[in-house]
Amino acid sequence: MTEYNQPLHHITPSGKYRNWRKHRLQAIALGAAYKRLGVGFQKKAERVFVCSRRIDFTKPQDDQLGSTVVNRYGCKDRLCPGCQSSRSRKNFMELMQLYQRYHEAYPGDRAAMLTLTIPNVSVSTMKEELSALLTGFRKLTRRKPFEHAVRAWFRALEVSYNPNTGLYHPHIHALLLFPPHYFDKQHNYYLKHQQWLKLWQQVMRRTDIKHLDIRMLKPHPQDITGNVKSPVMGKAIAEIAKYATKPADIFMPRGRGFAVDEKVIFALAYTLKHRRLIAYSKVFREYRRENKSQITESKMDDLDVYIWMEQPDVQTADYYLHEETAFNTKL
Ligand SMILES: [Zn+2]
Repeated sequence: MTEYNQPLHHITPSGKYRNWRKHRLQAIALGAAYKRLGVGFQKKAERVFVCSRRIDFTKPQDDQLGSTVVNRYGCKDRLCPGCQSSRSRKNFMELMQLYQRYHEAYPGDRAAMLTLTIPNVSVSTMKEELSALLTGFRKLTRRKPFEHAVRAWFRALEVSYNPNTGLYHPHIHALLLFPPHYFDKQHNYYLKHQQWLKLWQQVMRRTDIKHLDIRMLKPHPQDITGNVKSPVMGKAIAEIAKYATKPADIFMPRGRGFAVDEKVIFALAYTLKHRRLIAYSKVFREYRRENKSQITESKMDDLDVYIWMEQPDVQTADYYLHEETAFNTKL
């Protein structure tokens, strides 16, 4: 017998707990912030308020630990934590796949994680500073020493927020892939930390940039055989897959839910609008194009699903099992 009053506890097939209730409560807080921002944000508010009120899951199979989301009625807002978390999982899986393919083609290459920062910024100059940061990165990739050193890369833009100072911290995480000759002394392509920092200062035309972090990613001891699903690699790629802002930075627990400052929401929505948050170098762009053309129709039609919903007309963030049905059946 199916129990229709049970609360939702979602465990993924890989054993991770996904807290949809929390995502939903944060979406409600985000919707309220958009609403307070008034004209120009009402459509966003409406979309976010109803985000993820219905989620369709596969039925857990006997040989499987958990269930997968097959359909989620999400708002796709960039600042919505539930949609952000889904997107970051999707990005992660795609980046891992791209890297796996790269590693098969160039098994001798080594990876490094590069973090590029600029001094903290206030909201009044953030839009220009973000443009300068992305332009700086583009310039960096076109510099001769970079072109000689790096065979491929992908990068992500992230903005963190410090509620104590009210300042924003935009930065770029990039995964760089070095061919073996980068480390070969006779070529003189190797760049020391100071040289990386100098290059970054030059393309940004700023001497007040004092920090740059670059670290080689050591393959996990068990992964010398070439298994790229190493924890180190996975962690680095997860860092890049994270989507632009960490919700934890901006959502504060309040009462039984969350609150978020609409000024912060305005700043992030305004400055991240139309920005490309993740970018790839040529090799990865080609892999992606090929991947896209290979996508075939999946046989989703014969899947049995559970539909979980919030109660109609009340925003409680509590999900109830609503119906079991075949996928694609309309409510
Ligand atoms: Zn959403």
